[in-house]
Amino acid sequence: MTVKLYSHSLRSDILIEEMSSLRVYLDYNATTPLRAEARDAMVTAMDVFGNPSSVHDEGRRAMSLVTRARQQVASLIGGQSAQLVFTSSATEALNMVVNGDWDCLIALATEHSAVLAPIAASETPSIIVGVDQNGIIALDELDAAVDAALVHGPRCLVCIQAANNETGVVQPLSRIAQRVRERGAQLLCDAVQIAGKLPFDVAALGVDYAVISSHKLGGPKGCGALWAAGAAFPPALIHGGGQEKGVRGGTENVAAISAFGAAAEAAQSSLESFDGDGHLQDSFEEQLLSAAPGAVVLGKSAARLPNTTSVAAPGCAAETLVIRLDLAGFSVSAGAACSSGKVARSHVVDAMFKDGADDRKLSSSAVRISTGWTTTQNDLTRFISAWSQIIRSSSGYRQVA
Ligand code: PLP
Repeated sequence: MTVKLYSHSLRSDILIEEMSSLRVYLDYNATTPLRAEARDAMVTAMDVFGNPSSVHDEGRRAMSLVTRARQQVASLIGGQSAQLVFTSSATEALNMVVNGDWDCLIALATEHSAVLAPIAASETPSIIVGVDQNGIIALDELDAAVDAALVHGPRCLVCIQAANNETGVVQPLSRIAQRVRERGAQLLCDAVQIAGKLPFDVAALGVDYAVISSHKLGGPKGCGALWAAGAAFPPALIHGGGQEKGVRGGTENVAAISAFGAAAEAAQSSLESFDGDGHLQDSFEEQLLSAAPGAVVLGKSAARLPNTTSVAAPGCAAETLVIRLDLAGFSVSAGAACSSGKVARSHVVDAMFKDGADDRKLSSSAVRISTGWTTTQNDLTRFISAWSQIIRSSSGYRQVA
């Protein structure tokens, strides 16, 4: 069916045709569609109604699904299943670690709010480490921060994401882990965005804690996992019946956990089909930039996730671009998706552009395009054409360009 929409609220009076059956979803970093493997596992698990803590047959059958999922999820990140617990979300798992028994907390300025918000709410002293214009950590600043943190006491937690949700910028984790270890601090790695997109191995990297989320890799929402080296978990946030090694009280969500496991296994086996060398990303970005001269790809010179492009077109407000692209049938996002549905100014882009006023202006026009396993070359070609049309008809862009 073809639905014709006329956009009254926007300045442009172009007629926008939305082929509802041809919508293109390019917002995988916000959440992903459910993988078929995850759906099948979930449907099967719904009928396994036993309580995993019960000793009888029904309970044991439910526990065996949880055990299998624990192996599947641990395997995706190179960990042992004994070192992994399930939580209600990555946010909960990150909060658990941050709220542990620390003398000082350190975080990268571009961390997700699931790390920055509990740090801000905590009474533990904290230090925020900056990034350069490509969104990469300033390693000297990290060293100085850890040295300063150790003045507060020996228990120092450093929180560094593997890959950023807005720009896809990948941090040099093994160098970070080495420096943190040398100074006797511990490292929490938010691996939500990297897991299932690029190889990520907790043991090889030498991190102390890692967190991942089910719905970012094809599982259902409302399920996350915390991995801890040596199973040295932080104190429980939710106390209860001793589930999840006593670290996370509450009867396990067997269906969601089981689907998370299936999604993790599917993501692991399709890792190689991801565009690891960024070849497709390079040509997509070249076309984006030639359609809108003056536009900038954020973190362009840094190592990035092969599925993420954050592009800013001067003079264009990100919110307007997102709405116009949505009306044209493309789902992308501006900065971080916000629970209220409003688009807040991006702290990630602000951290990258802290020095120049002109650059800061660009930060309010950054749009994130994030692809996944349903994306086709044809989707991207159609996107470029809509993007070109929308940018060139934007009066703000015409004034600046
Ligand atoms: N960390 C990063 C980098 C994310 O992108 C997200 C989700 O947007 C989270 C943490 C939180 O994950 P969840 O939705 O499972 O709480």
